[in-house]
Amino acid sequence: MVAPRRISILGSTGSIGDSTIDLIERDPGSYKVVALTANGNWAKLAEQAKRLKPEMVALAGQAGYADLKAALSGTNIEVAAGPNAVCDAASRPSDWVMAAIVGAAGLAPTLKAVERGAVVGLANKECLVCAGTLFMAAVKARKATLLPVDSEHNAIFQVFDFEQKNKIRRIILTASGGPFRTWSLKDMEKVTPAQAVAHPKWSMGAKISVDSATMMNKGLEVIEAHHLFGLDNDRIDILVHPQSVVHSMVEYCDGSTLAQLGSPDMRTPIAYALGWPQRLNAPVERLDLAKLGSLTFEAPDPIRFPALRLARAALQSGGTAPTILNAANEVAVARFLAGEIGFLDIAAIVEHTMDRVPLQSVSTLEDIMAVDGEARRIARSKNLSAAAE
Ligand code: NAD
Ligand code: MG
Repeated sequence: MVAPRRISILGSTGSIGDSTIDLIERDPGSYKVVALTANGNWAKLAEQAKRLKPEMVALAGQAGYADLKAALSGTNIEVAAGPNAVCDAASRPSDWVMAAIVGAAGLAPTLKAVERGAVVGLANKECLVCAGTLFMAAVKARKATLLPVDSEHNAIFQVFDFEQKNKIRRIILTASGGPFRTWSLKDMEKVTPAQAVAHPKWSMGAKISVDSATMMNKGLEVIEAHHLFGLDNDRIDILVHPQSVVHSMVEYCDGSTLAQLGSPDMRTPIAYALGWPQRLNAPVERLDLAKLGSLTFEAPDPIRFPALRLARAALQSGGTAPTILNAANEVAVARFLAGEIGFLDIAAIVEHTMDRVPLQSVSTLEDIMAVDGEARRIARSKNLSAAAE
């Protein structure tokens, strides 16, 4: 008998959290859940906790604490809330951690898991964009194992020959192109939040769905790939592939290009990270290439999707530039979702903020969080015309 794997899920109530729990519940004997965390959705967290019986649950805010405690009274599940609660949950000993909080809010808790040398399935790309150098140094120093869950990076991880890295010419990140791939800039001016979150291929949280629509998601992923695979900007290409079947590729010096393919379902990369180094069964739709008939590819358009240029510029500048890009984007996306600004204003706010926050070289987490805060302040205060209609 193999002892059940002790696992924690940071951001268990989100889209990645749901998919992770779906896999765990199909094989309950193999896992012991240690901690589940959420931002404010105490009712969903309580419901998950009743099913999975973790040692503890944590809410990032104080709101909902009393309700969560009442809902779990009579169980022996510990309930915590507040700014340190999620970090405490991440620090609690477990073998495997799913890092699925959205945004830079995931940085501190994910670092806690890294610092105790855990195996971390990394969905939260923003923590690498915000603090990649510091984060990867912590992974190395603490001998943590980082397994990319983002579908493109997971695909590359599966076909990347780490022993012959010098034989790799470039990696190619595929992008669906989002819901506005073929739209004119004029039509994009009028995009509503509901249109932007309706992704044609993937079902995801609101923030990453908007990032896919602006293609900032692909820009963030270039920076993520730089840190995960140690390649420079000019060796990370982007290819638009609307069917989202080829999840990314690695090109070798002999002309071979290796790719990983699959249906667009996050349970495949999550299962890969959950089982690693073994492969697990995942209940996903099997790929039927004959039925699909054709796969198409096209170059991204940097004019209609300026976020790509901004992200590459941030990576090229280095230091705190990606921290500023990420923070400004988080604020701009939240403002767009709130109906305060138009769709094209998202990239405009990011550019405005990048132009105003002075660049620094990266040193401590405190410095990074101070720059993140300053960028958020500027991105929030930028006045733009109200969203169309
Ligand atoms: P989501 O919005 O569905 O879920 C986010 C989770 O984070 C929720 O559990 C929420 O309670 C928690 N959270 C939000 N703000 C928080 C805060 N301030 N403090 C603590 N917890 C907080 O998002 P998602 O789509 O599951 O994405 C999660 C992460 O995975 C993102 O970084 C995203 O870029 C990445 N990712 C997602 C997908 C996908 O298919 N959904 C694919 C690739 C990468
Ligand atoms: Mg991705």
